[in-house]
Amino acid sequence: MGERILIGVAEPGGAYTAYYRQWGDHPVRFVPELRRQRRDENAGDTQAMAAAIYHLADISDEPLEHSHVNEAAQWDMVWLYLIHVDADAVEAYAARPIDRQGMFCRWELYSRHRLTAGDDDLFALDGTTVRCTNCGAVDDVDFTTTVSATAAGQDTTISCRRCGATETTDPAFTVHRQPTT
Ligand SMILES: [Zn+2]
Repeated sequence: MGERILIGVAEPGGAYTAYYRQWGDHPVRFVPELRRQRRDENAGDTQAMAAAIYHLADISDEPLEHSHVNEAAQWDMVWLYLIHVDADAVEAYAARPIDRQGMFCRWELYSRHRLTAGDDDLFALDGTTVRCTNCGAVDDVDFTTTVSATAAGQDTTISCRRCGATETTDPAFTVHRQPTT
């Protein structure tokens, strides 16, 4: 508990607006919390959830940070959570050191999750590993990023190298997963 995070909303082309929270957490615990917030506090409305996040930044007096996922991450940040409003999804980026002292970090896409899903994701998080629930492969996934068909930003796809099961933030695919059996 208590990992430093940025949380905010994805914008077209990898840009984002986010704010700092001292008490974030690993996706395995934080994503269920975000789903609960969306369902219980925002009536299942992702747009309302995004607005609520900005409102929290406002009342906690944290400045909103406008940046880009390709920009360097602050050394003491652990996670960046970006909500994709159109896709009802959230992406988790992990800060990865790019120098030996760990003073400079970049954001690396770690996982993505539909906010509409229950805890029965096609890809499940077990601690720090990603497991394919279709075939059981662990940490054997590829992330790809494409420009969104709706031009609302970028879509990411996670696919299992072993069995080919695929899940994507593309709105056309947010309801139906595409496991290949
Ligand atoms: Zn698989």
